[in-house]
Amino acid sequence: MDRESQKSAQQYRPATRVVSVDANPADPYNPASTPIYQTATFKQSSAVSTGEYDYTRSGNPTRTQTERHLAKLMDAQRALCVTSGMTALDVIMRVLSAGDEVIAGVDLYGGTNRLLKFLEKSKINTVHVDTCLVENVTSAITSQTKMILLETPTNPLIGVCDIKAIAEIAHARNEEIIVVVDNTMMTPILQRPLELGADIVYHSGTKYLSGHHDLMAGVIGVKKEALGDQLYFVINSTGVGLAPFESWLLMRGVKTLAVRLEKQQASAMKIANYLESTGLKVNYPGLKSHPSYELHNKQACGGGAVLSFETGSTMVSQQIVEGCKLFTISVSFGCVNSLISMPCRMSHASIPPEVRKERNLAEDVIRLCVGIEDVRDLIEDLDQSLRAANVI
Ligand SMILES: *Cc1c(COP(=O)(O)O)cnc(C)c1O
Repeated sequence: MDRESQKSAQQYRPATRVVSVDANPADPYNPASTPIYQTATFKQSSAVSTGEYDYTRSGNPTRTQTERHLAKLMDAQRALCVTSGMTALDVIMRVLSAGDEVIAGVDLYGGTNRLLKFLEKSKINTVHVDTCLVENVTSAITSQTKMILLETPTNPLIGVCDIKAIAEIAHARNEEIIVVVDNTMMTPILQRPLELGADIVYHSGTKYLSGHHDLMAGVIGVKKEALGDQLYFVINSTGVGLAPFESWLLMRGVKTLAVRLEKQQASAMKIANYLESTGLKVNYPGLKSHPSYELHNKQACGGGAVLSFETGSTMVSQQIVEGCKLFTISVSFGCVNSLISMPCRMSHASIPPEVRKERNLAEDVIRLCVGIEDVRDLIEDLDQSLRAANVI
């Protein structure tokens, strides 16, 4: 056996880890792919003791294997799979109590904004600050602050938050403050917030992790066992654990995550360069012109495959979006196909116009989510649409 193969799974690089799966060590047939244990209940050997599994709301082997695999990728002590990215955030929020305060960004996912607003009914209030400036977060911390929620890069403006600095400052002020990072856009391949000091990381599994827009899922990772137990209690109490079929599909998708993302990221870089060469204002952390290029590339290993650009006119933006033939007009991202959208009209439309204005969410922003097509076709598609809209 050579030295390479003696390495423990954890020592391998992320692209190797995504395909190193323990299908199910307990299965007598030694499957190479985790079977779908499509069962709600499990028979018990006696009336007084239960085996590892008794009821799928509490646990199911397909979900467990997917969770163990994802825990390794996130460098988490424990991973938990739930029914959607928003469910992941809802489960996380339930560790808070009435009167607790949350600090969150201004440029965040529309659904996140809606859920935080909804929680005000339960007396959990959120203070929104531009989390891309560490001092804004520091000065917003009060004795009521129990959670800091970060998204980096932000979406659609692609701002960058310093995860390590914010986690250090927050924990120095009060070690009970839970620092949470929505890592959907970067995935564990490009950024691992738990290594940078965050307490909880979560992902919408609907996006890159699954990669084909054929399932909804949410994935939570934690460093501390006690926090994992608290979150599991919520999942078991409410029944939001990921179903066996979705767990299987998620695991299947994750195996190609690294290769998809590598291709998508390389194409995104070419597209960002092309758009910048036309004189448009491009927001992409892989570009040296990005104001936080250094910070982003210190905490992540690549710019990812989501970028945005501005035209200065909502009408022109609409024309460009509608003029593309290959980029599909769609919300979401992380799929193998390339997508184009106007976030203020689509994914972020649930944020009221006056709030969007206050938060500098420019209405003309166009977001591109780069897929795995031949990048020459993608650039040609953008080029013909920009010409038709008289932008170039
Ligand atoms: C899509 C998304 C979510 C929500 O995930 P769902 O699976 O759609 O519930 C949360 N955060 C970000 C950054 C997202 O893009």
